[in-house]
Amino acid sequence: MPHDDDTHQPLRYKIAFLNGIFMLGAVSGFALAVSRWAGAPLLAAIDLVFAAASLAMLLVLRRYPARVETMATIALALGFLIFAAVYVWVPGNPNRLTPFLLLSVAAFFLKGMRAGAWWLGAIVAAIVGSYYVQGPNALVSGLDLVTAVLYLAAMAGIFYCHESVEVDRQRRRREDELQRLAHYDALTGVPNRVMLADRMNQALARAKRDQGLLAVCYLDLDGFKPINDRHGHAVGDRVLVEVTRRIRDCVREDDTVARLGGDEFVVLLVGLRATEECVGSLQRMLESIRRPIAVDGHIVGLSASIGVALYPEDEEDADTLLRHADQAMYLAKLAGRNRFHLFDPASDRRARSHHQLLQEIRQGLAGGEFELYYQPKLDLATRRLAGAEALIRWNHPQRGLLLPGEFMRAVDSTELEIELGEWVIATAADQLQRWREAGFHLQVSINISAYHFQSSGFVPRLREQAMRYGPPAGERWLQIEVLETAALDDIAGISALIAACRELGIGFALDDFGSGYSSLTYLSQLDVDTLKIDQSFVRDMQTDKGDHAVVQGIIALARAFDMHCVAEGVENEAIHRALLQMGCETGQGNGIARPMPAAELAAWRAAPPAGNLDPPP
Ligand code: C2E
Ligand code: MG
Ligand code: MG
Repeated sequence: MPHDDDTHQPLRYKIAFLNGIFMLGAVSGFALAVSRWAGAPLLAAIDLVFAAASLAMLLVLRRYPARVETMATIALALGFLIFAAVYVWVPGNPNRLTPFLLLSVAAFFLKGMRAGAWWLGAIVAAIVGSYYVQGPNALVSGLDLVTAVLYLAAMAGIFYCHESVEVDRQRRRREDELQRLAHYDALTGVPNRVMLADRMNQALARAKRDQGLLAVCYLDLDGFKPINDRHGHAVGDRVLVEVTRRIRDCVREDDTVARLGGDEFVVLLVGLRATEECVGSLQRMLESIRRPIAVDGHIVGLSASIGVALYPEDEEDADTLLRHADQAMYLAKLAGRNRFHLFDPASDRRARSHHQLLQEIRQGLAGGEFELYYQPKLDLATRRLAGAEALIRWNHPQRGLLLPGEFMRAVDSTELEIELGEWVIATAADQLQRWREAGFHLQVSINISAYHFQSSGFVPRLREQAMRYGPPAGERWLQIEVLETAALDDIAGISALIAACRELGIGFALDDFGSGYSSLTYLSQLDVDTLKIDQSFVRDMQTDKGDHAVVQGIIALARAFDMHCVAEGVENEAIHRALLQMGCETGQGNGIARPMPAAELAAWRAAPPAGNLDPPP
């Protein structure tokens, strides 16, 4: 349903229309007065008053054009009163209906459809009313009355239709305008973000169908902000318009140039056959934007950084392609601007999965998904339990039980490695306490990374755990294993750390010994109590002479430095016996027992597989 507000004519048309009416009123009133002066002076006088009133209104309107609405209402009301008076006073003349016709046209034109209809209603009511007031003499016949009413009703219909059409046209024009505002950038006239999304989906669909290549280029101007700040926004806007024109000149008709806002653009290059094809366009864009721009007597210089994501090389949805192009643009900026950078899906996938894994580890730690397994260490001569090594496990909700090899590398030298290490210390201490309360005394070794070991606050935190656990004086409850290969370069610092640990009843072992290059000087300076022979030598020592020599050498070295020696990788009885013969005191390996949950260790100790372990005293 058309609304009254929709039908209002522009003010200047109304002013022109009223001007015309008043002028006509003045001239015709004066002319009538002159023509009737001799025969009917009273009527001529009325005509003169009418002419004078019209003239006065004309002058007022000229003086106050802004009051056109009020003037229109007054004119319509006055016209209505005057014509009604003439109609009543001069009966029998069919021409007296004519002014009403003019009045109704004016009402529709000036007041719009709804108010016009009310005016028309009032006029019809006045005519019909006066007919009844004056009786059958009022008109020449009742037919005249019917004709007049029908005529006016037809007029109303014509106006209604005309205005409906006009309203529709205006609505359509406004909708078009809204569409344009919603899909195109107001400043440069190129598609905006909304339209870009549309075009991207179309381009992706076409590239999929034609097995073509699509390049999504994210373009950000370098040094645009200073231009805005120095020369003002008006100049900045004109620069953007010029840059847009230049970009469009560098691409083909089918390609899309869109502005996302500010100095950010996206260019879609479609229908490419090879990556090199887009390189040409990119280079042209960079060169074109580099050319000085003259605006309002200023010469400004700019460049652009462009990030490019290619479909199908980077097989992602539109949003992700755009995000990848944005990331690549950022790298282009970092690399020194005025260049383009192609997004590399492989390196992104690596970075993303690494990031995801860290995130999962963090959540797993908070969610209690980690667990310490314990692998027994055996006194090779007496076959008694000599201790256990705590080994971290991850009960992953989807992937099942994970070994450290599957996740520890990810946390290498990160804060998270320290968090995990602290969790290992606290968990091992808790477990030891529980075992001690159950009358089960055992030394546990834990693996600590060099990064964690050398991190600030390591000893104070360890001291806290030791106080909580409260080991009996002199008890060697815990041992820290650090890889021999770990870069322990600050010998003095490490020695101080080892000494501090020793005060807390905590020993120190060099793990996987033999795989690194420890010199004798290094060994003599570090107050280490245990060397753990790397399992790779132990496993093959019976078949490989070199490995045998290494194992033999490490055992001799430990004895020379008065250190304890533990062999890893005791996979069978033969290795067990050989090690014993070579003088190695302690062994650990799958041949003795695989790492197991804490609860199983006590049971294992009580009933070890035959031959492995003597029953506890
Ligand atoms: P590692 O400290 O040398 O621990 C011994 C590894 O050898 C363990 O693997 C153990 O299950 C395995 N192993 C024991 N006996 C045998 C055997 O007879 N044959 C063979 N083939 N393997 C045997 P796991 O538990 O997978 O741990 C691997 C490495 O991960 C550990 O080597 C240690 O360096 C690291 N790691 C384990 N737990 C932690 C931890 O809590 N913190 C840190 N920072 N590293 C840890
Ligand atoms: Mg170890
Ligand atoms: Mg080891």
